[in-house]
Amino acid sequence: MNLTSNVTELDGVASATSEKLRRLGIKTVKDLLLHIPRSYRDHSKLDSTNTMQPGMVTLKGRLENVRSRRSRRGQFIVEAAFVDDDGRVGLVWFNQPYLAQQLKRYSDVYISGELIVKDRIQLINPEVEPTDVDQAFTAQIVPQYPLTKGLSNKKLYRLVDQALECVEEFDDYLPLRILEQYELMTYQQMLSQLHRPQSQQSLAQAKHRWGFDELFELMLAARSNAKELSEHNAPKVATDVPRIKEFLSSLSFTLTDDQKRSLWQILQDLQSGQPMNRLLQGDVGSGKTVVAAAAADHMMEEGHQVAVIAPTEVVAHQHHQSLQKMLPDFKSVLLTSSVTKAAKRRRKNMLARGEAQLAVGTHALLQPDVEFDSLGLLVIDEQHRFGVNQRQRLVKDNDTLPHVLSMSATPIPRTLALTVYADLMISSIRELPPGRKPVETKVYGPSKRQFVYDQISEQIDNGHQVYVVCPLISESDKLGVTSVEKEHQRIRDYFKSSATAPLHGGLKSDEKQQVIDDFTSGKTDILVATTVVEVGVDVGNATVMLIEGAERFGLSQLHQLRGRVGRSDVQSYCYALTSSRSQSSKPRLQAFADTTSGFELAEYDMEHRGSGQLWGTAQSGQFSFQHARLADTRLVETVQAVVTAVLSDEPLRKDPSIKRIIDNGLKLVHRN
Ligand code: ADP
Ligand code: MG
Repeated sequence: MNLTSNVTELDGVASATSEKLRRLGIKTVKDLLLHIPRSYRDHSKLDSTNTMQPGMVTLKGRLENVRSRRSRRGQFIVEAAFVDDDGRVGLVWFNQPYLAQQLKRYSDVYISGELIVKDRIQLINPEVEPTDVDQAFTAQIVPQYPLTKGLSNKKLYRLVDQALECVEEFDDYLPLRILEQYELMTYQQMLSQLHRPQSQQSLAQAKHRWGFDELFELMLAARSNAKELSEHNAPKVATDVPRIKEFLSSLSFTLTDDQKRSLWQILQDLQSGQPMNRLLQGDVGSGKTVVAAAAADHMMEEGHQVAVIAPTEVVAHQHHQSLQKMLPDFKSVLLTSSVTKAAKRRRKNMLARGEAQLAVGTHALLQPDVEFDSLGLLVIDEQHRFGVNQRQRLVKDNDTLPHVLSMSATPIPRTLALTVYADLMISSIRELPPGRKPVETKVYGPSKRQFVYDQISEQIDNGHQVYVVCPLISESDKLGVTSVEKEHQRIRDYFKSSATAPLHGGLKSDEKQQVIDDFTSGKTDILVATTVVEVGVDVGNATVMLIEGAERFGLSQLHQLRGRVGRSDVQSYCYALTSSRSQSSKPRLQAFADTTSGFELAEYDMEHRGSGQLWGTAQSGQFSFQHARLADTRLVETVQAVVTAVLSDEPLRKDPSIKRIIDNGLKLVHRN
């Protein structure tokens, strides 16, 4: 047996078990070893019912009075009492109908879960494990593996026991001398300790190494990207002040100070002779496009082409229209998948021959069949990074790369910018153009629904339009078909005289377009949708965003959704409705109501979450840390030091496993 052996070679794995393992993504012994426990139960640190505190608790005792019922709203509920020598506490599980039978068979158990103290003191959805397990399993610190139905923690534990015989076959991508210097465990030690911690201390060291790996990958990729870029050339465009003045005077408004400063920073990059890697960040409506347009004007005036990539077709159309207006001196073409084949060929030819200077499109623009005569600047909406290799594919001369300007409405928190995006220069537009009215935001519990509906009626009577966004409620409804249809029904029943329409991932793309067109043209008053409206629907007449089940959305998502309204000079409203009254007082939602600044929300999110799904990464599908905490300064400093050591060590930098990390690290960051 070795790391690549199929799990069926382990004792106790017949086809039923291997099918269950497959559901967890485990096919080989290696996969099994990389299936890291989600938490640990420390038997040397058991709580008891009279000393436990709100938060995570682990108790040993027995279950009594297991029963199940349905709630008034039809939810399936299992309840039980937990009793130990000191007292008792209530347990409750939601939507796990199969659980009651199983629990009735248990007598003595360990339970662990979160103790909630509200109207009642309860553990909600706790994990339960019978105590009558074999010797090996009663180790002091017991790993809790992510499980699937029908596969117990105990079973996985036994399988991992066998797999651990192969753990030494893993290679560490870092040489021992570096590991020792920076007091890091080897990869093999880390895995052994994550699966079978000898002490809380060695578990902490293993987690430190694990967090190290997650961050190292991203930081190494970022820093080496910066290094590689600096070794290439890019078109050198001197700043022509009269030309800029002329461009700016053609606008119907004057730039804000932040816009001017950002434009100035970009122009300096363009005359440096090295490829620009800059992010222009600012909330929706802060005027990023016009800054990019001014830079594009400069680039094209010097005889180079510019490509603008939008996240969706709809946005590509909008950019194309507004850029054409701002840049009348140049020929521009639109390239999206809905353009006819013949037109596409014609437009591609114009780009290849240099007859068109500006190309606007979706990612289709980056396909190898699109050739540019002389691409000088690439502007990308809502994507943060673009690697050296990706740039090279767009030009004939691999040495001279295009400049890249990314634009984003979800600002990066400072700590993240300094670490994971170390290769990125950042320009920020914090102030909105004068006269903008911030979106009035309220977070309410369910009892305010009637009030919110009244506000919506009033807006519709005034000729405005409304978005209603609902969360995905179940794993099996990824496209949101059920969620949206249910919500749409409620809205339709209530707003009988208004035109309503559902929009979800189950619709065909022409059906979707029809729904969007009807809303854009004002035919539909209320659009009920999943978060697909985050990108691509732009309706200035929409003045209300109602977010249902608001507690289910991350801050950055809420902020993106709110950005759909408040796009004209009329007052707009965002109502975030939570599923229960208590949830409406969540600090995160209060923060959302308190500020409309994406910059402030980004910092708030960073401070209060630290790890996990990071700010702004959800909608661009970028990355999430399972373990690394950017607030852990020792970790961040260690990673920075090791990255520097690796990059300055020529042989190590060329090492195949390091090279692979550099490439994958960047890929991870722009996984689409
Ligand atoms: P975003 O940052 O969301 O891409 P846009 O560039 O689309 O914002 O700008 C939003 C609107 O604001 C556009 O209609 C644009 O013409 C206008 N605008 C941009 N800058 C200013 C300004 N300084 N003063 C007034 N209006 C502006
Ligand atoms: Mg924009």
